[in-house]
Formats: sequence, C-alpha cells, structure tokens
Amino acid sequence: MSLALEAGCEARPVLRERGQREVFCGLTGIVWMHRKIRDAFFLVVGSRTCAHLLQSAAGVMIFAEPRFATAILEERDLAGLADAQEELDRTVARLLERRPDIRLLFLVGSCPSEVIKLDLAKAAQRLNARFAGVRVLNYSGSGIETTFTQGEDACLAALAPELPGSDAPQLLIVGALAEVVEDQWRRLFAAMGVHRLAFLPARRAGEMPAIGAGTRFLLAQPFLAETARLLESRGARHIPALFPLGAEGSTEFLRAGAQAMGVGEARFREATALAEARAKAALAGPRARLEGRRVFFFPDSQLEVPMARFLARECGMEPVEIGTPYLHRAHLARELPLLPASALLSEGQDVERQLDRCLAARPDLVVCGLGLANPLERQGITTKWSIELVFTPVQGHDQAADLAGLYARPFARREMLRV
Ligand code: SF4
Repeated sequence: MSLALEAGCEARPVLRERGQREVFCGLTGIVWMHRKIRDAFFLVVGSRTCAHLLQSAAGVMIFAEPRFATAILEERDLAGLADAQEELDRTVARLLERRPDIRLLFLVGSCPSEVIKLDLAKAAQRLNARFAGVRVLNYSGSGIETTFTQGEDACLAALAPELPGSDAPQLLIVGALAEVVEDQWRRLFAAMGVHRLAFLPARRAGEMPAIGAGTRFLLAQPFLAETARLLESRGARHIPALFPLGAEGSTEFLRAGAQAMGVGEARFREATALAEARAKAALAGPRARLEGRRVFFFPDSQLEVPMARFLARECGMEPVEIGTPYLHRAHLARELPLLPASALLSEGQDVERQLDRCLAARPDLVVCGLGLANPLERQGITTKWSIELVFTPVQGHDQAADLAGLYARPFARREMLRV
C-alpha cells in the first residue's frame, strides 16, 4: 500500500498550544555534547534536581568519569549571592586541579541559578582571567528557557562569538553529529573536490573552525536557531536544505552544500549515487514493517518535522499529528511543503489535550518521551522513545535504514510478544 501525498502549502495551519508540558530541559544536551567535544567539561550550577536529572538521563555513563558535574547550590548560597560566586570559584579551581585535561569549561545555568540571578557571564569572565589554558564560557540549559535539544543550540551559540575569524571560502556543517557520519561526509565531499569542509562543534576545543564572510553553512539539526543567527551576524551565510534524514533528505542536504561550493550536478551525482542507491535498497526491509501505519508525534526535540517527512515519503507511514516544541518556519522551509496535507501540525503543548487527541486517533505508533511511553503502552498503543533518535547516529545515507529500523523495532517487539 502506498500513500498519496499532497504537497502541503507553505502557509499550512499550525495548532498552537500553551499549557502543561512533558519535555526535558536543555541540561540533557550535556549528555551528548560532552561526548562530542572531548576536552570540554560542563559544570551545571543548579540544585539536586538538576544533578538527578543528569544522572538519570546519562544512565550508566555516570560511571565512566564523564566530563560533566553539578555544583549544587546550597541554602547558604541562596541566602547571599556574593558567597555563591566565591563558592563557584573554589569549585572550579578544585575541578581544574583534578582534571588538567580540560580545555573548555562551560558553566551551565539552571532554573535555580536563573531564579536567584546568579551572573554566570561575570563568573566566566573572572575565571578566564584567573586560569590560563582553559576557556570558560557560559550558557543556560534551564527548563524555564530551553527544552531538550535547545541545550545544544545554547551551547553552540556560546561558542559562536568565540570562533576565530577568517573570510576564506569554506563549507561548514553545524550541529553535533556522530563521528562516523562526519567521516562519511568528508569522504563524499572530498570525492566532489570540496576539501574546505569544517564541522561545528569540532572534536576538540583547539580545533573549532574559523568563520567569516566566505563561510556557507548547512544546519544538520533543525533546533539551532540561535546558533544560526549568531553565525550569520559574523558574516556566514545559511544554505537552505532538507535535513539529512533518509536517502532523500541526505541527498538534498549534500546537494545544497555541493551547489553552494560550485560543484556541478554530474560530479555531485557521481560522488553520491552509490550511497543513495545503497540507502534506498536498505530501506526496503524496515519499510515493509512501517508502510501504511499511522504515526503520532508528541513534541520533544524539534526533529519531529523532518522525521515525519522521512517516514511519510520513504517508509509509507501516515503522520496523524506532528507535534514540535518550536517551529522555525525559515529553517523548515524545505521540509514543510513535503509533509502530507492531512497531518495536523502542532507547536507547543497542552499535554492533556494532546493525549485526548492521541487516544481518539488510535495511531499505530506514538513517538514520545519516556514519561508518556509506558502509560500509553499499557493502553495497548505501541510507542517509540524519542530520546533514542537524538542519541543514535541517524543522519546520512548509511544510517537511513538504521533510522527506519528504530521506528520498526517496537512493531517487531510487539509481534514477538503476541503468541
Ligand atoms: S534546570 Fe530546571 S528543569 Fe532542568 S533539572 Fe534543573 S530545575 Fe529541573
């Protein structure tokens, strides 16, 4: 069975909701960002709640001497702010003594530090003057200001003004990606003759790319609004493209980058045709499980729109509702017209109402956070934990089938359990 897809018009209606939300705060971004930048450390200035959140989100990783920690605000810190700044200086001094490998230190704000207006920018400035060889930056991952993946945006936005300047022409890919994906794209662009290729963030603090008027950048993730704005303020130019999910998304993403660097279509096809054909062939397996099934997205990571586009167009699924915490129309300009017109697009959340819509629609698969998954499973609805989509390498041609496999797995499990 295949779906007839109508191209949705650009000004398609969006249901905007405000109410009770069921999302992670931006602190969770630390879990993947600390693995990406190998000599960075993330020091959350927060409460025990923040420490517990990180421990549960990072799972077993906390036993592997991770490069993040929480400086817990005690009651006496809350009583007098000057004291909290001194405490922070002492904590950082102790940390840097114990971990001399740290080159980049992020002070990460939380709800408690925001509420008492603890000035982390000032603290970063002071600490930079005190410690040579370590760059100290700050950003907020608080739940008041950020949801889930916006923590990565806030982190990269803290880095953007710090990047060295250069107007040399280059292609920059923005967004934390698995190294295997970066390596594949380096090979593909090298085959097209594009060697001036850089990634933000780089793997090490000292290797961050220089940017300027010659930089053209592709967003590998849809949640990088603030980072993109700051890169543009430094003269870099955004290249509109589909996000690199699925065979179609990956091809269009790479094509946009290639065109911006002056690569002709024939050379582009020559370099990418094999990877695209492999991805399409590999998708046949998971597609057989997904085709014709109805999928409902709760808002979580801002990846929902490109994911729904991929599932509809390449796996034959029918998105019922596509919920996103935040809809950036300009960055999703290529994606939105490709969504099936029948899908309801919603931004923000009133979780009770959304649950009512979900239960009434009886979708075959619900993509949601951990807090909703088990209760929905109990009602007989198959679910997919959205957090896995952020932790697993899913971008690029070679990962297209793995991405579809993540959605197919809950169906396989359900079939196995049905005896
Ligand atoms: S930053 Fe705010 S929302 Fe996040 S864990 Fe701390 S208190 Fe909770």
